[in-house]
Amino acid sequence: KPSQFDAIVVGAGPSGNACAYTLAKAGLKVLQIERGEYPGSKNVQGAILYANALEQIIPDFRDDAPLERHIIEQRMWLLDETSFVGTHIRSEDYNKPPYNRYTILRAQFDKWFSAKVREAGALLICETTVNHLIMDGDQVVGVQCDRIQGDVYADVVILADGVNSTLARKAGFHGEIKSENVALAVKEILFMPEETIRQRFNIGEESGVVIEMVGRITDGMMGTGFLYTNKESLTIGVGCMLGDFKNNPNRTSPYALLEQMKRHPAIAPLIEGGEMKEYCAHLIPEGGFHAIPQIYGNGWMIVGDSGGFVNAVHREGSNLAMTTGRLAAETVINAKAASKGYRADSLKAYKTALDDSFVMKDLYKYRDMPKVLHKNPQFFTSYPDMVAQAARTMITVDGVDKKTKEREIFASFRKTRKLTGLVGDAYKLWKAIR
Ligand code: FAD
Repeated sequence: KPSQFDAIVVGAGPSGNACAYTLAKAGLKVLQIERGEYPGSKNVQGAILYANALEQIIPDFRDDAPLERHIIEQRMWLLDETSFVGTHIRSEDYNKPPYNRYTILRAQFDKWFSAKVREAGALLICETTVNHLIMDGDQVVGVQCDRIQGDVYADVVILADGVNSTLARKAGFHGEIKSENVALAVKEILFMPEETIRQRFNIGEESGVVIEMVGRITDGMMGTGFLYTNKESLTIGVGCMLGDFKNNPNRTSPYALLEQMKRHPAIAPLIEGGEMKEYCAHLIPEGGFHAIPQIYGNGWMIVGDSGGFVNAVHREGSNLAMTTGRLAAETVINAKAASKGYRADSLKAYKTALDDSFVMKDLYKYRDMPKVLHKNPQFFTSYPDMVAQAARTMITVDGVDKKTKEREIFASFRKTRKLTGLVGDAYKLWKAIR
């Protein structure tokens, strides 16, 4: 069958939109297929938007993109049952345009991005699921959709179908995603009057605060929590590794975990009075560098969550999604211009470009982090407790001299973890982030 399109992009999340936009802007004939009712209807994200990745695709995106607040303050909290110890990084430099990070609401943002894709000339079909890839020998030549006469042919197919891509699995490009490589996150959007948000977080009309959390809120499981300020709402969520949910002796459900987190004395006053507008759960691929599958082949490439491109340490996903989408598109554009065809030897330029970018460099830097955290649950349990206890002891003025307090703190550390364990943990962590 002759190709009807230069490229088919499956999925209209950030990776698919970045890819389809770049291709269409360069004048290629693009079909984008999305199973949701509209782009964004099926998508879940915290959500922090990192401007740089989008700027490389749509430089003037700030003119009309639906952005909630630019972030001027980031808080990082270690929590035990009753307290948190943390750092707050706030700078007036973050309050000067062009801003670097924004909070967004994905449903609105994806709709906006998709409109740009269509303006650039791509054809979008929604409410359509791609069931299979069509092969001609070892070459992908099109997709089969859940519609009558649903076979469509193209020179190249880009899989931007999100985490747990069934298409890549069915085609044998990679196996089942392992439960230790994927997190299950739940989040709520809580409506709150703008004025309350401004007062509670000490921010202006357009500026915002994000809080990242680790510790007792995940019930001993490997995971993190977050609280972000939007214009007239807060987003609160928590995510833990799927394997940990399965093995958790308390059988804590994701929903119960979020409810418990909302009751934490450091969090409850910030969200008090918030009215729930949206609740959702979604997977996040957090296996990192070692879990990235083969991402290109004869007539196909994988971008975004579908390829596991998430930097869990820095909570970056959408920017990796957009960058992989853009680089895959540029590979197709170059292959077409040079009449190089779309076999693997031509499309491997995508992997080379990724290796040269921050995407693979960052994932490589943290390549051992998932393993280290998995094997050492104390980073999510004893350490937040120890640090919080130590801070409380030092700060409490009770007539005990500071030297004695230091000795008490050290003794409590050693009671929880032997000296060799403490030194070993510090070394493991240093090795994983160096
Ligand atoms: P998706 O956004 O999942 O899009 C995939 C699209 O493909 C969907 O629209 C889906 O409907 C469609 N699709 C799937 N299968 C088919 C099919 N067979 N046929 C047709 N269409 C199909 N990242 C950040 O940068 N900042 C954050 O603050 C952040 N917070 C997060 C919080 C949570 C709770 C979660 C779950 C994720 C968060 N991420 C964050 C990660 C980020 O959301 C993802 O990395 C990003 O959405 C990946 O984009 P994508 O386009 O690859 O996949």
